[in-house]
Amino acid sequence: MTRPGTTACPACGADAIQDCVATPALPVLCNAFPAERSAALVAPRAAMDLVSCRRCGHLFNRSFDPGLLRYDASYETSLHHSPQFRAWAAELAATLARDLPRSGATIAELGCGRGEFLMLFAGAGRRCLGFDRSYDGRLPSHAGLQVLAEDYEPARHGPLHADLVICRHVLEHLADPLPLGLALRAAAASHGRVYLEVPNGLWTMRDGGIWDLIYEHFGYFTPRSLAALARRAGLAVRRVGETYGGQFLQAELALDPAQHADDGAPLDQSLPARFASSLRELLSSWSRRLAQELDAGRRIAVWGAGSKGVTFLNALPRGAEIELVVDRNPQKRGRHVPGTGQRIVSPAELATRRPELVLVMNPLYVAEIAAELESLGVRCAVEAVS
Ligand SMILES: [Zn+2]
Repeated sequence: MTRPGTTACPACGADAIQDCVATPALPVLCNAFPAERSAALVAPRAAMDLVSCRRCGHLFNRSFDPGLLRYDASYETSLHHSPQFRAWAAELAATLARDLPRSGATIAELGCGRGEFLMLFAGAGRRCLGFDRSYDGRLPSHAGLQVLAEDYEPARHGPLHADLVICRHVLEHLADPLPLGLALRAAAASHGRVYLEVPNGLWTMRDGGIWDLIYEHFGYFTPRSLAALARRAGLAVRRVGETYGGQFLQAELALDPAQHADDGAPLDQSLPARFASSLRELLSSWSRRLAQELDAGRRIAVWGAGSKGVTFLNALPRGAEIELVVDRNPQKRGRHVPGTGQRIVSPAELATRRPELVLVMNPLYVAEIAAELESLGVRCAVEAVS
């Protein structure tokens, strides 16, 4: 556990931590959706004490207590229910596959979740090997595809001799991300390359992405902090950059130190302070706006019961009074929002529930959602929360 008073940066290791900002209390598991409303209303919540590193810009929660996080079967984070996300993931997989040997390549994914991304590589005589402690065994069987419900441990599993090692959206959950960095290196030994992807902490801080703050995410990487961690793990950074509308960071890493080419963009030392004030301003302006809408008796729907939606509902004092929360993911339907307790409904249900204002949690999906509301015959205002 990282205790108050921690001075070392978990990404670059420097002793250069400065205070940033504290959040309102948020559910410690924002992606666990209880079947019972009563359980949702008493879901444990905790504030985050965010601090930043002066050397690499890494932002992290100094009061993080991994002991509070008990993942179970109600944990659901898949984004693969959005057609736009699926198309993006398919294009990324095709790009990554371009440099693989024509046949017989080995692809390993550490922290593969349900294996939806790894599946995109199956075929062409490839061996696809996934590791995830929370794997639920539901992946359709496919020749050459295997997922183990455990972590990859170099000492136990040995080198995987993978041509490509993938690790997406895992590092940000770890209080100490270095051992995973070392495991990625071991999995790629002796000839492979590594593809890393994490939420873009720079986007969160720079572009007002405050609704992306969730307790499960211990660390918020900048290009510089991701590159620093990779180098500490003995990996060369060939490229680090933004993707998915700037919301994700991706890095291409190599085993050979001579291939190091990118330390990430230089730091903007004023960013943490600007982020702290924009967080306070956004919370207060949305609190006022929501109070106006609720007092005027408007029926509001929040579209997106993912991280952003759950944080938005819980961070605002009157978030529990928002009547409708909608999500495309059928696994979430009929379940309840942790903290505020709304029952999650399907898009189709809006045809009868008739919201007057739909708040879209991810600006990338506004057009897709407006078209869907139109096809359902729902006439209402649609607005992106940003
Ligand atoms: Zn640092």
